[in-house]
Amino acid sequence: MFSTHKCNTILTKNASYYQQPALEERLWEQIKGAYLRGGRAVVGPEDVLKAAAVGRVEKMIVTRDAKLAGLRCRACENLSAGTPETCPVCGADDVFKVDLINELVELLAATSAETEFADPIPGLSEVGDVAALLRY
Ligand SMILES: [Zn+2]
Repeated sequence: MFSTHKCNTILTKNASYYQQPALEERLWEQIKGAYLRGGRAVVGPEDVLKAAAVGRVEKMIVTRDAKLAGLRCRACENLSAGTPETCPVCGADDVFKVDLINELVELLAATSAETEFADPIPGLSEVGDVAALLRY
């Protein structure tokens, strides 16, 4: 048992280029585990966005082909998940649709957080195709 496990570990390390999906699935398992324990993780577009906006995200995982809607307010520049008709922060109706994933990726790049694009994982899709590990 032990020697098999050790062997796999070494193999995975050396072959990390070829094992991207497995690495992403492990990241998802890590996020899910932390989330279920009430630890440093969030799932779903709204909570990931809230955490990203204040620089709490360490690593985000998002389904590669997911399309997530977001809304930007021209009045206060607030970014919201989903497509409310008015800005949830200032109430203005001067809002426009954005690609939430693009916005999240830019937000994370600005705070040196990482984004991993994963092939579809059923559990991740169930929570809205996006989840993240938090720094604190
Ligand atoms: Zn606003």
